[in-house]
Amino acid sequence: MRVEIDRRSGFCFGVIKAIKSAENELKTTDKLYCLGDIVHNGMEVERLEKMGLQSVSRDEYMQMKDCKVLIRAHGEPPETYEHAKKNNIELIDATCPVVLTLQEKVKGSYESNKDKDGQVVIYGKKGHAEIIGLDGQIENKAIVLESINDVSQIDFSRPVSLYSQTTKRVEDFYAIADKVKSSMQPGVGLEIKDSICRQVSNRVPHLKQFAKEFDVVLFVAGHKSSNGWYLYTICKEENPRTHHVARTSEIDPAWLDGAESVGICGATSTPNWLMEEIAEWINQRNPS
Ligand code: SF4
Repeated sequence: MRVEIDRRSGFCFGVIKAIKSAENELKTTDKLYCLGDIVHNGMEVERLEKMGLQSVSRDEYMQMKDCKVLIRAHGEPPETYEHAKKNNIELIDATCPVVLTLQEKVKGSYESNKDKDGQVVIYGKKGHAEIIGLDGQIENKAIVLESINDVSQIDFSRPVSLYSQTTKRVEDFYAIADKVKSSMQPGVGLEIKDSICRQVSNRVPHLKQFAKEFDVVLFVAGHKSSNGWYLYTICKEENPRTHHVARTSEIDPAWLDGAESVGICGATSTPNWLMEEIAEWINQRNPS
């Protein structure tokens, strides 16, 4: 059986930066907290936990003081920084530069349209850490659209600045943008800010091709990874024998029945070592 790992899958630079920051700190500190899971991949979280990284929830963080806390790539709202200042918490800030820039832009749109009663609208998932961080920049006034059906929440007689969470589908964002555009009242301002990170969307054409080249595709990603589900869907559309797995124990050996080739790929939050582990698991059961 031919088993191949997609060399373009795996961590994006934002995640690499966050994990390197954690590993560097853990060389000299025996206890480092992380606000939320450092990456949406349970296996990588477990690996770093063994080195001394402990995930804490937002509620737990708000009770903490006198410690070191890592901020992951998704970014945080201003209240996180204010709490650290007041409570002697040293922050290791690993917010992805792409997210930091987006936070600044969202804030800029909000400030510049405040006197015109403007609305900042973000296509994303309510409660997602990145959305909490963005909303926090603008006094939690963002209108978050989870789908095109939510555009009715917008007041089309007031100016709109439309953004996207970095990991959303480009086509879905532009479908929403078109609907908003056609619904705006004449003469009312609309700015469409495509803020989707190309670290995710640029992988789409390549993954489409990759998925077609194998009898079976195993897409490796944590169940909480939104870009994981997105990229998995892309592969599944190209190859119906694509399966989403977070670890080897989730593989059903029957999936491989009759297959002569297996492609392994993953999300921007999937560690390479995990894809290697999965390849090894298959090779041991299906020696070539
Ligand atoms: S997907 Fe893009 S925005 Fe998100 S962490 Fe990676 S590089 Fe940063």
